[in-house]
Amino acid sequence: MNFSKSEELFERAQRSIPGGVNSPVRAFKSVGGKPVFFERAKGAYLYDADGQAYIDFVNSWGPMILGQGREDILNAVQDRMSKGLTFGAPTAIEIELAELIKSMVPGLDLIRMVNSGTEACMSAIRLARGYTGKSKIIKFAGCYHGHADSFLIKAGSGAVTLGTPDSPGVTPGTAADTLIAEYNNLESVRKQVEDHGSDLAAIILEPVAGNMGCIPPSKEFLQGLREIADQQGAVLIFDEVMTGFRLAKGGAQEAYGIQADLVTYGKVIGGGMPVGAFGGKREIMEKISPLGPVYQAGTLSGNPLAMACGLATLGILNEQPEIYQKLENTGAKLESGLREALEPLEFTINRKGSMISVHFGSHSVLDFDSAAKANNDRFKRFFHFMLNHGVYLPPSAFETWFISEAIGENEIQKTLDLVGEFARLETAIA
Ligand SMILES: *Cc1c(COP(=O)(O)O)cnc(C)c1O
Repeated sequence: MNFSKSEELFERAQRSIPGGVNSPVRAFKSVGGKPVFFERAKGAYLYDADGQAYIDFVNSWGPMILGQGREDILNAVQDRMSKGLTFGAPTAIEIELAELIKSMVPGLDLIRMVNSGTEACMSAIRLARGYTGKSKIIKFAGCYHGHADSFLIKAGSGAVTLGTPDSPGVTPGTAADTLIAEYNNLESVRKQVEDHGSDLAAIILEPVAGNMGCIPPSKEFLQGLREIADQQGAVLIFDEVMTGFRLAKGGAQEAYGIQADLVTYGKVIGGGMPVGAFGGKREIMEKISPLGPVYQAGTLSGNPLAMACGLATLGILNEQPEIYQKLENTGAKLESGLREALEPLEFTINRKGSMISVHFGSHSVLDFDSAAKANNDRFKRFFHFMLNHGVYLPPSAFETWFISEAIGENEIQKTLDLVGEFARLETAIA
């Protein structure tokens, strides 16, 4: 591989853009080296600025569930574009997308469009506080809900009762309203409830965690959270920004048979355009302005082009539910192949449908602490080996790989052959 154009672009980017990127994971900080700049994409493949092809296991972090550059989706956007870009006033296509989503997601009465997953989660929390009249939220260590202040709270080791800010600029006052619990650990939730239950507005979580690698929940964990939220009169929020329309039409709610009070969306919902959304029970959603007193707004929210892209993408998933079976089959094949190829090394693989991740280490990965124990040096070598052979994995051990419908037998086989070669090289240097 020759990265000379990418390196040139990275040099230039750093002179005008902080760190050369508009979102930090793209900078390769956690794997080392310099980011690859991409020029175009088609199907299962990304093409970089030097013209080299890569099998795409990032999928723009999830949205491109149907693969890149589908004519039907691009045409839907182009058709809509010919009528104008944005009006700052209602359009029929917003209703079409809302109705389609309601038909796919059971229990969703009302839905509001925004422009990103961050906005969706931030708005859902404000709504939960406005609805309950309470202040505190419980979030789980290692769960990501975008970069709003309330969510940038780190869990220290051991039993943390009050959060401390994860980033300068988040005030201690804000951090104090975010309580941290451990994923897959109901006891840690009950502890927080004992101390702060009377002021608990919401419990928010990724129903399948995808931002510390992939960590599926136990069914008892989700059920327990549902019960605790009901007992406390708190709003249960599923952050389905990653899992929504990916695990099933109805996302993790459908996959695990648990109903949240509010759900947030992003990624797949826009099919590659900047879209987020939050929705749920009528009684809660009616508190949003202009119906209710909780303020929330957006100049470009419900943008017609973005709606057209989301509508085309979700329309295909709705009409061809067999796609979910195909994604499951591809995921299962990748998982069993990885288990075989990595046999000489210590590893843990977690998978739910088309979300999968490899942690190098023999311990099981159930929460943030166990994820953090994995061998990151080996992951770095793994990432760069795969990159240098034309497979683009997420540039961090704490990110999920995403499988798209465009990934077929050939791509899986090529990936597995390379993984096997990597495992042999690693055992040779050990
Ligand atoms: C990506 C992500 C977000 C943030 O979405 P943005 O569109 O990047 O703001 C929130 N929650 C989860 C679970 C995510 O994976």
